[in-house]
Amino acid sequence: MYENEEIVVETVEFQDETIVCKDCGKEFVFTAGEQAFYKEKGFMNKPKACKACRDAKKNAQKEPREYFTVVCSECGGEAKVTFQPSEDRPVYCSACFAKRRQPRD
Ligand SMILES: [Zn+2]
Ligand SMILES: [Zn+2]
Repeated sequence: MYENEEIVVETVEFQDETIVCKDCGKEFVFTAGEQAFYKEKGFMNKPKACKACRDAKKNAQKEPREYFTVVCSECGGEAKVTFQPSEDRPVYCSACFAKRRQPRD
């Protein structure tokens, strides 16, 4: 008697998993999609903290942006720039900078 060969496809099924955040103690869901993503990236460890806490930590590590106050070469108004302005180059406030970038008719 002829038997159909059974084809076994191995699939890794991910299921949503609830984890308690080590930082805030709240439960969060480590979703199936995230688990697949972690596996794809080769991350061995499950997240220990919820997304909010992880984001907060990420942001805390970032250096606060330093602003330099300059006087706009065009309108004379005060402008804040994120780079150290050099003295031999004109600096513009965002409004004047945008204006200058527009092609003139
Ligand atoms: Zn948390
Ligand atoms: Zn200006």
